[in-house]
Amino acid sequence: MSNLSQRARIISPSPTLAISAKAKQMKADGIDVIGFGAGEPDFDTPSHIKDAAIAALNAGMTKYTPASGTPELKKTICKKLLDDNGLDYDPSRVIISCGAKHSLYNAIQVLCQDGDEVIIPSPYWVTYPEQVKLAGAKPVIIKTTEETCLKITPSMLEEKITPKTKLLILNSPSNPTGAVYHRDELECLARVIEDHGIHVLSDEIYEKVIYDGVEHVSIASMGEAVKRLIVVINGVSKAYSMTGWRIGYAAGEKEIIDAMGKLQSHSTSNPTTFAQKASVAALSGPQECVAGMVAEFDSRRKYMVERIGRIEGMSCLLPEGAFYLFPNIAPLYGKKYEGAAIEGSNSFATALLDHMKVAVVPGSGFGADECIRLSYATSMDNIERGLDRIEEFVSKLS
Ligand SMILES: *Cc1c(COP(=O)(O)O)cnc(C)c1O
Repeated sequence: MSNLSQRARIISPSPTLAISAKAKQMKADGIDVIGFGAGEPDFDTPSHIKDAAIAALNAGMTKYTPASGTPELKKTICKKLLDDNGLDYDPSRVIISCGAKHSLYNAIQVLCQDGDEVIIPSPYWVTYPEQVKLAGAKPVIIKTTEETCLKITPSMLEEKITPKTKLLILNSPSNPTGAVYHRDELECLARVIEDHGIHVLSDEIYEKVIYDGVEHVSIASMGEAVKRLIVVINGVSKAYSMTGWRIGYAAGEKEIIDAMGKLQSHSTSNPTTFAQKASVAALSGPQECVAGMVAEFDSRRKYMVERIGRIEGMSCLLPEGAFYLFPNIAPLYGKKYEGAAIEGSNSFATALLDHMKVAVVPGSGFGADECIRLSYATSMDNIERGLDRIEEFVSKLS
């Protein structure tokens, strides 16, 4: 009999962990493994941002700040939300947390309880259902397909709403699919949300990683009534290659933000003081660094989509955002590699790693066993060599 709480026991271990641990071990053993698993940009944090943190340290910014973040960073975030997203928030309606993941956690904890239902479109980011379960609520999955470009439609949403529905978690641009919701699509979804009065967590962490001139639109900008139901989640991790700095934020109704602040004041307290100062530099400083990174991602994206499109049995949509491809490989299931059956995304990923030394993330953890996730946050050289190996692997399946 376990001494652990029910809460601890319901968390699923990350299904992606086994493969990435194995890949790491192989690398440590000197094996030439090519990894497509990266969940963070492969660029360094821009130097003006690092310099701001160093200056903050030298100026003695090494003590507590207010638990919900510094007034300076809150003001900077409000300006960013207004300039980039057309969202007018008072600094009292913003909270800064230890990464966007922490903002999501706090928001779900203060909004959801036993018996609540939370709608999550799949493929989804692995963390969402676990955070929902930790709050005692029940994830309700809407499975999307290529037919709707891996996005939900208003009727798909409406079908899943019950009197118990508390929340919808929307992620645009999406990890793992790269799908981006366009303005007209959000307008229609916003109407359903408003009609039913459900809340939305809008995870916009990949806002800046977007291609082909596609516009990032926040669902919170679809009118004052719907804005009151939405908690916008964002952060500096992906746009500024600052994953290790742990700064994310949320903006929403005062009641929700205040409750998140209370929770945070008794758990983590403030996010790191000098990382907050660096985030001011990131959000208010020069933005060319973002464009440079996105241009590099863009050429890798095009190259990979083109090559994967030519592999028999693999197909993928051209993602409009983020830095992942999420190809469907279901036509390969049922085949064998040297006698070992490929039955799903886990056995595909395991065989690919064992035989070709290429690490990909199985789609099973994202609610889509018919797919694998390939990150292009890795060098063009790695991408070319990795795709050569994947091509060879698939050609040997029979
Ligand atoms: C990376 C990521 C986050 C969290 O980023 P933080 O580093 O915690 O700010 C949130 N949502 C999605 C979909 C992500 O991929």
